[in-house]
Amino acid sequence: MLVVPAAGRGDRLGAGRPKALVELAGEPLLLHAVRRAASSGVVDVVVVVCPDGAVDEVTTLLAPVQLPDLRVVPGGAQRQDSVRLGLLAVDDEDVDVVLVHDAARCLTPPAVFVAVVAAVRAGAVAVVPVLPVTDTVKRVRGDVVVETVDRSELVAVQTPQGFAPGPLVRAHEAARGAAPATDDAGMLESLGHPVRTVPGAERAFKVTRPLDLVLAAALLHEETTTPEEPR
Ligand code: C5P
Repeated sequence: MLVVPAAGRGDRLGAGRPKALVELAGEPLLLHAVRRAASSGVVDVVVVVCPDGAVDEVTTLLAPVQLPDLRVVPGGAQRQDSVRLGLLAVDDEDVDVVLVHDAARCLTPPAVFVAVVAAVRAGAVAVVPVLPVTDTVKRVRGDVVVETVDRSELVAVQTPQGFAPGPLVRAHEAARGAAPATDDAGMLESLGHPVRTVPGAERAFKVTRPLDLVLAAALLHEETTTPEEPR
């Protein structure tokens, strides 16, 4: 089962419409994201959590992917609310792995989905794809640096994140009303579950700001002009 939170407003992108519906090479980010996830071969039921009022539009725009079981549900105020509403759309007794994948990470290679699912099936409760941090990272208060953090132990976390269904659903229930978490694995971590890592991918970056759209368009162009290149 794959849950795709796609209900964000996309204020930082400044496109004047929900980010998942912003077009890249003539197609919405959401369609790119779901198509790549589906082509991994490890996804069956897909739940897309969309902006309020966009259920019909999103169902129609995803028709080209020909998913065997697509459910489209309206999202909530925070990402965490949207994921919880997506989880409610499927009875977890039928599911062995839940993937949660941001629509905004629309160029994530299918191989990352395969690696995350394999790690959950191998026994991990929670799995995140990660990349090393390349910038120097400092903690600041106001405009004053208080600490330079040891970069060698830091990673940047991407999606898809993979979970055993029961612990994920329980973590979302436990987190209701608490300060919103920025990722799902963090909720399991705070309940004491170990979170495993697998290698992420540079192409799994999150389209957040206008510059990210330029990069994504360039990468898509490169893919269509050099189709044999490994991703
Ligand atoms: O805002 P941010 O870039 O962290 O959002 C990550 C993902 O969560 C995006 O795909 C966005 O559409 C989704 N989201 C959501 N519901 C919200 C806020 C964000 O589904 N209320």
